Order: sequence, then structure tokens, then C-alpha cells
Amino acid sequence: MFVVVVIQLCFYSDLLSRIQNLEPERMYVVLGGGVKAEEFVVQRYIAYYRRIKSEYETAWKVERDTYPEPTEHCEVCSWYPLCDKRRRDADHLSFVAGISRNQRKALGERSISTVAGLAELALPIQPKIDRIGEAGLFRIREQARIQVMGRKEGKSIYEMLEPMEADKGLATLPSPSAGDVFLDLESNPFVLDQGLEYLIGFLTLDANAEPRYESIWSLNRAEEKKAFEDFIAVVMDRWQRDAAMHIYHYAPYEPTAIKRLAGRHGTCVDEVDELLRAGIFVDLYRVVRQSLRASVESYSIKRLEVLYGFSRTTPLREANIALNAFEAALALGSRHGADSLLKTIEGYNSDDCESALRLRDWLEVRRTVQESKMGHALPRPAISSGKPG
Ligand code: SF4
Repeated sequence: MFVVVVIQLCFYSDLLSRIQNLEPERMYVVLGGGVKAEEFVVQRYIAYYRRIKSEYETAWKVERDTYPEPTEHCEVCSWYPLCDKRRRDADHLSFVAGISRNQRKALGERSISTVAGLAELALPIQPKIDRIGEAGLFRIREQARIQVMGRKEGKSIYEMLEPMEADKGLATLPSPSAGDVFLDLESNPFVLDQGLEYLIGFLTLDANAEPRYESIWSLNRAEEKKAFEDFIAVVMDRWQRDAAMHIYHYAPYEPTAIKRLAGRHGTCVDEVDELLRAGIFVDLYRVVRQSLRASVESYSIKRLEVLYGFSRTTPLREANIALNAFEAALALGSRHGADSLLKTIEGYNSDDCESALRLRDWLEVRRTVQESKMGHALPRPAISSGKPG
């Protein structure tokens, strides 16, 4: 603490030296609660101050030359426009969907540092690129290629992966059914020791095939258990009435969280086992990745929406800020200001659920087109009761 005060005084003395062209002899401070000024001889400290100042300036220069590698925080960072522009100007490899940092580093060592450069890479390449296998290199080269094609055409494009395998991609889509559920959870892994699934949002279709969104909130452990039980009760009821229903989600988080909730609260364990055994959960991310390649910079559902023409009602940046603020309030155990964020988060969650529905429908159309191209029907997964044996 005392060191900081002396450094601050040195800083003022340094500024004074420049203004008056004469270095002050002494510097003074009256510490909190004191009446007597503490006195310091400038010459005794100023050399140390100059040294740390010079070290700071060197470190700052190194930082300034550091590339703004994208991180999760970029989504809410106020510097984002500046960093994004720098990366776009450089056609940075981080824009290639699915490329890893290590792959970018390995490509950089071979002077391949732009999306366009990777798109034009002739394969096979000799000598091989360290730390990237042939399949991985082919995958990211193809991804860069379609992204560059999309740029040239000025629109989002996609291509189906051939050959279409009988147990992957579009062939794993079950037949749409009236009881289908489109699920999305919001959670924070750090609150209440083990994290909290604070919102279960799901969308179903009513008798007129109109989407109907429902949300179940939990702000503490007891509410989380009740929300989970209520959701499983809704699902089991729908399943009983429609044996062909499925729960669609995007990426593997939802079934993992459902299993975790059953274990954490010791409830609905048999029901969850049955749902999993019956293959009720359908991961649309998996279907997308196994069946097509798109000119998107990431395969998050938000980036794919341009392909199936889905428009969100809640702007993503607004939603990300609300999610961060709400989760910070939860982590601090404070409800202060949290209520005003619920509406925005619910809008975002509802958009995610509806987007999953639109994506499923769009994939169904791709499936039909593919079948007519191939001249035969693709298989569907068998319907199972989920009962053991
Ligand atoms: S946007 Fe923010 S978090 Fe992302 S690289 Fe720039 S400064 Fe870092």
C-alpha cells in the first residue's frame, strides 16, 4: 500500500519536473486520518520509479502487438467492433468454422494464415503439416472453401455431404409427430456450488400446428427440482399420448443436463432412463454436422438461421448482456435488478426453441430433396418404448 503511494507521488513529481523544468526535492502525503504530512526525498525513489515505468511501457508495447485472439468474452466485450475489424482486415483463420487454435498455429507455421489461403490449399500437401491429420486438414480446407464461395456469391450457401450414410445425418431424423417438443435450457455452472439450470424453455405445437412456448424458472435448488419434475411430467404425458414424439435440441447439452438433474435431485430417474433408452432426444447439431457443409463462420444455431430464414425477436447482443448480468446477480446471491432481465432471457430462449423447430422442418425438406435425388427413401430410426429388455 505504502509503495503504491510513493509511486504515485513519484509520478506527480515526474510531471512537475517536466512542467517547471526542475525536479522537486521532496514530496509529501497526508495519509488517511493523519494530520502530519509524511515527507520523502524524491532522489531516493525516482530511479526505482523510472525503472518500473520503463518496464510497464515495454510490457504495454508487447501487449499492444498481441493479436486479439477470439475468446468467449468477445460476445459481450465493448472492444469487439475494433477486434473484429482487425481480424476481418487480416482475413484471420479464426473465421473458419470448427478450426482449433492449434490448427491455426500449425497452419501459420507453414505461412497459411488467411481463410482465402486455406481455401486454396492443394491437398495432399507435402511435407505434411505437423499436428493436423489428413481428415482434419481436409475438413477445415473444405470449410474455408465453402466460406470463400459464399463470400464471392454474396449469400449463405450450403452443400450436402455425399454419400448420405444410412445411420447418420438426415437418416437419423425421426418422422415429425404432433407431440414433438423443442427444448432449450439456460444454466450457470458456478452458482450454488454445483451450478443451476435456471430456465427450462420448451416449445410444442397446438392443434392448429401453431408454436406454443412455455418456460419454467428456478432461482434456487428447491425450485430447480420442482421445475425438473414438472417438465418430465409434461414430457411423459405427451409421450403416453403420442408414442412417436421426440424432444429436439441443438448440441448435446440438454440430455446431459437432464441426466444431471435426475441424479442431483434423485428424482424421475426411471423416466429419464426410459427417454434415453427410447432415443427420444434428437440432437439437430449432430444431424447438421453429419449431413451438410455451410458457408457459416460457426455451426451455432444462430449462424445457421440465415439458411432457413428464421428471424429472432430478441437481438443477440442484448440477450448476451442480459444473460451475463442475470448470471452475475445469481452468482452474487442477489435478485437486485434480475427481474427486469427475465423477459429478455425468456425472449432469447423462446427464439432458440422456435429456431430448433424451423431447423428441423428445413432439414425435413432437405431430406425429401435428397431422397428424390437418390431415387429411394432414407431410413427412419425405429420407435421404441424405452422399456428394458
Ligand atoms: S473483443 Fe474483447 S475479449 Fe475479444 S479479443 Fe478483443 S479485447 Fe479481447
